[in-house]
Amino acid sequence: MLEIRHLEFSYRDGDQTPMCFDLDVADGEVVSLIGPSGSGKSTLLNLIAGFLVPGGGQIRLDGVSIESLPASRRPVSIVFQQHNLFPHLDLYTNVALGVDPSLRLTSSQSENVRAALERLGLAELQQRKPGALSGGQRQRVALARALVRRRKILLLDEAFAALGPALRAELIELVKSLVRENGMTALLVSHQPRDALLASERTAFICDGRVLALQPTTELLERSPLAAVGEYLGST
Ligand code: ADP
Ligand code: MG
Repeated sequence: MLEIRHLEFSYRDGDQTPMCFDLDVADGEVVSLIGPSGSGKSTLLNLIAGFLVPGGGQIRLDGVSIESLPASRRPVSIVFQQHNLFPHLDLYTNVALGVDPSLRLTSSQSENVRAALERLGLAELQQRKPGALSGGQRQRVALARALVRRRKILLLDEAFAALGPALRAELIELVKSLVRENGMTALLVSHQPRDALLASERTAFICDGRVLALQPTTELLERSPLAAVGEYLGST
């Protein structure tokens, strides 16, 4: 289980109210994060990944604090909208970099890379470079690279935002299967309420650097009494 307790952060000293996040995610769960632009969704994911250092608070995984570990040692992988693939390297190599940045893979690690490419339907394309792929295929590569890292927590920051609805739905289903098959836990930021409905039983609403609500997705989207949720959804 992932527990986030009073996790504080300010981009600038002297900000009146720092962001402060509290969130509990069960083992194996996928939770969607929605909320207005600038509300702190990416900041929260970057704090969990270790790219930002909190002013205070805890991040615990199965009871063990991870907030003081460097990013490279956290049990976390993150997938962004911008896939961050290296354009001059083929898919196999791009994915292998997820295992070892120096690319000295053991034979079983290379086998894992091949298995991940296979699982994501990319086996035939492994010699291609990212420029020769569709947007959906590129995000599959980004998922494969996250998968081979074998980290428990998978974070997706608007990873599929550039894709059309049908493709987004397909990739969300894929993420759910991967999470189940690999015993991961995932947080998925999306701007589409429909993505949250497809992705997760529970959704967190983030506003002004706080988790204002964490509840069943349909309840949040259809019956939230919070004015901020209504405003965000455009239903007030
Ligand atoms: P979201 O992902 O929900 O759109 P962010 O976490 O990116 O929101 O941003 C939260 C707030 O922090 C916003 O007000 C944003 O302008 C501010 N912010 C984000 N990144 C930086 C940065 N590098 N420096 C200063 N302020 C930032
Ligand atoms: Mg963001």
